[in-house]
Amino acid sequence: RPPVLEIGGLSVDYGVGDGAVRALHDVDLTLRRGEVLGLAGESGSGKSTLAYAVTRLLSPPGVITGGDVRYHPREGEPVDVLAMTPQELRAFRWQEVSIVFQGAMNSLNPVHTVRTQLTDVLKAHRPRMSREERTGRARELLSLVGISPDRLGAYPHQLSGGMRQRVMIAMALALEPEIVVMDEPTTALDVVMQRQILRQLVRLREELDFSVVFITHDISLLIEFSDRIAIMYGGRVVEQAGAADIYRDPRHPYSHGLLHSFPALHGPRRELTGIPGSPPDLRAMPSGCAFHPRCPKAFEPCGLRTPHLAPVTDTGTDTDTGRSVACWLNDDRRSGES
Ligand code: ATP
Ligand code: SF4
Ligand code: MG
Repeated sequence: RPPVLEIGGLSVDYGVGDGAVRALHDVDLTLRRGEVLGLAGESGSGKSTLAYAVTRLLSPPGVITGGDVRYHPREGEPVDVLAMTPQELRAFRWQEVSIVFQGAMNSLNPVHTVRTQLTDVLKAHRPRMSREERTGRARELLSLVGISPDRLGAYPHQLSGGMRQRVMIAMALALEPEIVVMDEPTTALDVVMQRQILRQLVRLREELDFSVVFITHDISLLIEFSDRIAIMYGGRVVEQAGAADIYRDPRHPYSHGLLHSFPALHGPRRELTGIPGSPPDLRAMPSGCAFHPRCPKAFEPCGLRTPHLAPVTDTGTDTDTGRSVACWLNDDRRSGES
């Protein structure tokens, strides 16, 4: 599958000068057309920061300090997202990429009906659509996410949490974007509802052919719905691979820990308590591999040199998903620096 978004060496700081903390380190990640890319990692690992940075929604004190983000439209040359003008950005967001934020279901405007909120998006970006066309499209969007178009006149408080979440997804899909970023879109909902919504999204993705970046704490949902998974720790991607490969055979000790805090794919949900110790403090990042103070497999180079994400050759039945890992244990790795 060809890439739709290529992130290279992306770094983000919060704050400037002495008070700055680095929340993203040198992140390399590729989203391919039509895939669901799952992002996992403990709280504070930089998942939302990454989502905000690649959509250019990062606001102060967040600053992108390096790297590039390339968007590949269906036609024409790749575009540098980090160099876009405000005008270009306005078109890029919603039409090319849309994002459903963490806790989004509470961000619907309580004083406007679902119709108004859906048609406002269309009005802003499709000025030539008539009123009737907008309403028609709003009805269509509601049906897409499994809500009866009769609910168009409803106010947010008249809808269940699951329905509000679906409305947010309908808004995100309004302009048929190529990429939908979902940052913990469903955590406030019960598991059955979460599954239902995600199943629907994956079906829509097949129908409408968009790509999804899906961020969640819930490893079981992640494995169930992602094609590929990237695991983040301390602002770095430490492993990325096909979902089945990473589930069956995690190569980074942190991935292993994360996955093993969830014993069964369909078992009860649990919080990420499986790894002893706590996530690193951005103000005092451990030297070398940031995971080394918690890593059961740490050895001589780990506290001294930082392992960088590098391709590993998979053996056996692995599909060619292009796995890469940032860990000194993987001896076929290429590079590393202090
Ligand atoms: P969660 O799972 O809790 O949503 P996350 O992986 O999305 O976590 P981020 O929200 O991206 O993590 O945060 C990454 C790091 O950046 C955290 O250490 C956080 O404290 C820090 N950070 C985030 N926003 C700000 C801010 N506005 N100012 C300073 N630091 C911030
Ligand atoms: Fe553990 Fe060392 Fe690998 Fe880091 S580099 S995950 S400390 S073995
Ligand atoms: Mg977050």
